Amino acid sequence: MTADILTPQELKKAAPVFGQLSFSDHEQIVFCNDKDTGLKAIIGIHNTVLGPALGGTRMWNYVTEWDALNDVLRLSRGMSFKSAITGLNLGGGKAVIIGDAKTQKTPELMKRFGEFVHSLGGKYITAEDVGMETADMDLVREVTPYVTGISKSKGGAGNPSPVTAYGVFMGMKAASKYTFGSEHLEGRTVLVQGIGHVGEVLVEYITNEGGKVIISDINEARLEEVSKKYGAEIYRGDDVYSIPMDIYAPCALGATINDHTAHKLQARIIAGAANNQLADEKIHGAILQQRGIVYAPDFLINAGGIINVYAELENYGREEIICKTENIYDTTLEILEKAHTTSVTTHEAALKIALERIEVRKNENK
Ligand code: NAD
Repeated sequence: MTADILTPQELKKAAPVFGQLSFSDHEQIVFCNDKDTGLKAIIGIHNTVLGPALGGTRMWNYVTEWDALNDVLRLSRGMSFKSAITGLNLGGGKAVIIGDAKTQKTPELMKRFGEFVHSLGGKYITAEDVGMETADMDLVREVTPYVTGISKSKGGAGNPSPVTAYGVFMGMKAASKYTFGSEHLEGRTVLVQGIGHVGEVLVEYITNEGGKVIISDINEARLEEVSKKYGAEIYRGDDVYSIPMDIYAPCALGATINDHTAHKLQARIIAGAANNQLADEKIHGAILQQRGIVYAPDFLINAGGIINVYAELENYGREEIICKTENIYDTTLEILEKAHTTSVTTHEAALKIALERIEVRKNENK
């Protein structure tokens, strides 16, 4: 049996880890299993050149284990670039727990997960992501010090989501300055897709500045609640990418810029919190560039959360968290301009800066 007679799908199965499309020279991938608590998790450590791999834990009811592996590979890689471009001394890592956070998450499962994190001796430091709450990180803290995003009452920096939202807002304003000549969002129509921990706070910032917000979510109760609170318009149709808007803010899950959406999206700017917004960085990044849609790279503008949790490791306070998060405005503007002058996509321009920082440190460490 030779590789050239296998179909791409067979090939993927024949080389399940190093042959994955999303495998990108990851340093270590750890599969965690515990029968008693039902824990099935994967920890992905992408790169530790700049420091320990820090990244949140996502609990999601993945359709297949392939989806879970693919997600952890993509997310952990993104974390390396996020920390690098933000100037933090952290590597990139992420964890996924396979299961329904509403029905399968128990204190025992979270603690068992914490023990697996602990067994890595600090090479991976966890935090919260989709499906996790600050209280879950507090449980992990009972069994390992290698966790951030714990409650303020327990010495942590608390929920990172409001800081993430502030950083996204900064990136959105920078993209507006670049595109429209003004950073002010007054009169702009912004679609916020996903109004969870980050999305709701973003809705608040935009509304306070006089922007018109349209919200979409799969959770009907959240739609009603957030609409009532901020006067946002609810979109309930089935073609959210075709509605007229100035700015699209993806704040649910990744890969929403894909073969089905990249050509029809009606926005001038994309600036949101979700990780890995481009299903394919090269293909979809290029389509956006050709269509003149300004894409504020996700790993750059959603770094507020990691800035917030990094404060727990470096012992810096609120003022520095805000200052570092506000820097996202200048960095975004710089990258959008650089992409334009060098004729590359905005994603490529940001990636280049992140990769250069990792490479410089790698050479220094030799
Ligand atoms: P969350 O779970 O609190 O909110 C996600 C929201 O998206 C929920 O309201 C959910 O109902 C909605 N949603 C799910 N699928 C949807 C769909 N198909 N269409 C519309 N809405 C949908 O998560 P969060 O903490 O607000 O994070 C949002 C995104 O930002 C995630 O991709 C996360 O990885 C990323 N992110 C979050 C942080 C942070 O600090 N929380 C930091 C960086 C990146």
